[in-house]
Amino acid sequence: MNRKQFDFVVIGGGIFGCYAAIYLAGRGAKVAILEKESRLFQKASLVNQARLHSGYHYPRSIATAAMSDEHKARFTSEHSAFVNHTFEKFYAIDRYGSFTDGQQFERFCAYLNIRCDRISEHSLFNFDRLEALYLTEEHSFDPVLLGNFYRDQVENHPGIEVYTNARLQLVNNAGNQWNIQVSVPDFLILDLETPVAINATYAATNAINRLFGLRDLGLTHEISEIAFIHSQEFGLRGLTVMDGPFGSIMPYGLSGLLSLSSVAYTHHNISFDALPTFDCQQPWEDPSCTPDAPGICTSCVRRPASNAPKMLAQMQQYFSEQVKFSTLFSYFTIKSKLKSSYIDDGRPTEISLLHESPRFYCLFAGKINSIYEIEKIG
Ligand SMILES: Cc1cc2nc3c(=O)[nH]c(=O)nc-3n(C[C@H](O)[C@H](O)[C@H](O)COP(=O)(O)OP(=O)(O)OC[C@H]3O[C@@H](n4cnc5c(N)ncnc54)[C@H](O)[C@@H]3O)c2cc1C
Repeated sequence: MNRKQFDFVVIGGGIFGCYAAIYLAGRGAKVAILEKESRLFQKASLVNQARLHSGYHYPRSIATAAMSDEHKARFTSEHSAFVNHTFEKFYAIDRYGSFTDGQQFERFCAYLNIRCDRISEHSLFNFDRLEALYLTEEHSFDPVLLGNFYRDQVENHPGIEVYTNARLQLVNNAGNQWNIQVSVPDFLILDLETPVAINATYAATNAINRLFGLRDLGLTHEISEIAFIHSQEFGLRGLTVMDGPFGSIMPYGLSGLLSLSSVAYTHHNISFDALPTFDCQQPWEDPSCTPDAPGICTSCVRRPASNAPKMLAQMQQYFSEQVKFSTLFSYFTIKSKLKSSYIDDGRPTEISLLHESPRFYCLFAGKINSIYEIEKIG
């Protein structure tokens, strides 16, 4: 048995877990990151639409919109090498079935003081389907470059120890500290002692809360697909159609690819269970993906068939005939949402102190640029 003492143990090595570890180690703490997979940054922090939210996306949640905008400037300045600022980004309102309209969207943008210049003619777009089109200012971050950056930071920080392929086996509350038994490769068992545990596992949030004997968050989970596409005519621009069952095309950071998602087709299967429970999980065949320890969907042979052609057919309606797209490949992952966000479609980042002594923080991430919320932890 290998016994080790840490000031903080962070469970989950996505952007939120990594940022928490760097922030805390930067203040002199000794921190461990426990990551289930063989590499950090393989799940939601890699498989997302890379939108650096400025607020536009949330006309039904002023709180999320305001939080996005609040952190955008700092995120951009601290990650400028990984942010694409140089593309034209359009927002549009579908003529049919939108929860918003041009007037309301303009009022919302004016309230948030974000750019929204109405465009009445443009050769790339089909105005028969668009009630309104706006040139806005929204950027995209590069998840691959961010992953490289954060991996490098945590792996080389003298105050941080990273354990990949880590399996939490047993947790004991020893009064003033947690004793966490973890198995790591080569059949090694570690006994980690810490006064503060931080759960940053996103889709696995409730599984980890339960392991510590703590309550569930009200979550739903969806197997989600981000498709990657290319268009000579549209180039590296972005279009998001609001607000309802529509879709979005964005440059995926600096990769030269466009990401495509659609409210109707990005989400394949939905799990309303506290743990992400899907028919495709067959633990007897593949123990690396279970409801209490979900795996990596992109590399799974039982991932859903791609909806990219359906997403593209839907989005193609908003473009003039000259604009053609081709689909390349897709990434899949589990997207988890707070049930309380169902009505306003908001994506708040919530940090709950679920246990006072020893401390246990449950960090449920809404948007990537809200990593700074972590600084509220001591
Ligand atoms: C389809 C999709 C589109 C999105 N689009 C955007 C967008 O455009 N802009 C935006 O800002 N946000 C977007 N988001 C949200 C954003 O990606 C997430 O809020 C953010 O990545 C969550 O980061 P995280 O570090 O909490 O989670 P993750 O990146 O999922 O990291 C959690 C880590 O915990 C690990 N883990 C799980 N279980 C265990 C365990 N038992 N033990 C140890 N480790 C464990 C996982 O392997 C993983 O590495 C999107 C999300 C999805 C899924």
